[in-house]
Amino acid sequence: MSEYLAKMKEKGFEELIMIQDSSVGLKAVIAIHNTVRGPALGGTRMWTYPSEEAAVDDVMYLARGMSYKSAAAELPLGGGKGVIIGDPHKDKSKEMFNAYGRYVKRMGGRFITAADMGIHEEDLDCMREECEHIIGGSAIGSPSPFTAYGVWQGIKACAKEVCGSEELAGKTIAVQGVGSVGEALCRHLHEDGAGLIVTDIDREPLEMARKEFQAKVVDPDDIYGQDCDIFAPCGIGGVVNRDTVNQFKCKIIAGAANNIIKEEQYGKALKERGILYAPDYIINAGGLTFVEMHRQGITDHEQVKAVIARVKDRLIEVFRRAREQNILPQEMADIFAEERMKK
Ligand code: NAD
Repeated sequence: MSEYLAKMKEKGFEELIMIQDSSVGLKAVIAIHNTVRGPALGGTRMWTYPSEEAAVDDVMYLARGMSYKSAAAELPLGGGKGVIIGDPHKDKSKEMFNAYGRYVKRMGGRFITAADMGIHEEDLDCMREECEHIIGGSAIGSPSPFTAYGVWQGIKACAKEVCGSEELAGKTIAVQGVGSVGEALCRHLHEDGAGLIVTDIDREPLEMARKEFQAKVVDPDDIYGQDCDIFAPCGIGGVVNRDTVNQFKCKIIAGAANNIIKEEQYGKALKERGILYAPDYIINAGGLTFVEMHRQGITDHEQVKAVIARVKDRLIEVFRRAREQNILPQEMADIFAEERMKK
């Protein structure tokens, strides 16, 4: 227990809430990292953790990440996250999600939650029967096109930093993962006149990209070593790692995926190799911005996009300050977010 209080103090957490209701099989943890800017917003995930400690560590890591993402996006939000410990394929029940909803309601709006891994729309509906602080779902629509819009703006900021111009026509961009964000991103890049190289573990989106965007299709393992200007990871995290870091021939790595750099040392290696990295939580905040603006009643998509477009200016500032202080862009991103978290 004292170990967690010490960890909370070290990382600036406000609350860690352990929830158990054996009558409905609910075991959950909610972490509130920081509410200085506003209520803590973060998804709830359901997962079979190997231990309760692993669940607590995960929820704390994710909640803190949400504080940084919201603050860097200059949203009036703090950071929080929930995890329900259990098998999402076996252990779900309406009663369990109703009970979880009642716990979230008891927090009086200081924690607002949405779907994360293992949680689906129908689970949110059960929570919503008991609590108004549940967001997402069909009424809002997918945040992915807005995430893609922000990533596109961020890629322009990277091009400006490296090439002196945000022009993407004639550039070659390798997109890893043509899912809901990747496809929308490819469309923007294609319309800008960029050449595309794509990969996915699924054949179907690749066929679409070949036809619609005249993209060159490569096998998943071959994407890292492609001759390109920009590598845009939009599939899984951790793709800059021991096996890939020396394969890149690009000048820029900028995409939607979370936690792109597996370990700090590989971030340093990118800098040494002269590759610019766009910090993930700054470039991929478009979807979160869309959700928050919707929560505030702002549903005009052009207005939302105008706010998301500020990703470009934020990255330009982060790159400039990182250059001046000779630190990594991801280190500068943390400073940028922490400055805003204090406000
Ligand atoms: P998605 O599931 O719709 O698409 C991911 C695509 O990546 C799929 O087509 C999948 O087949 C492919 N993929 C998975 N592993 C791969 C691999 N090893 N090699 C190549 N392709 C692979 O997901 P999404 O919503 O488009 O999100 C993409 C990434 O962006 C995720 O990492 C997600 O966490 C992150 N992200 C998404 C949003 C959003 O609004 N959707 C917001 C912020 C961050």
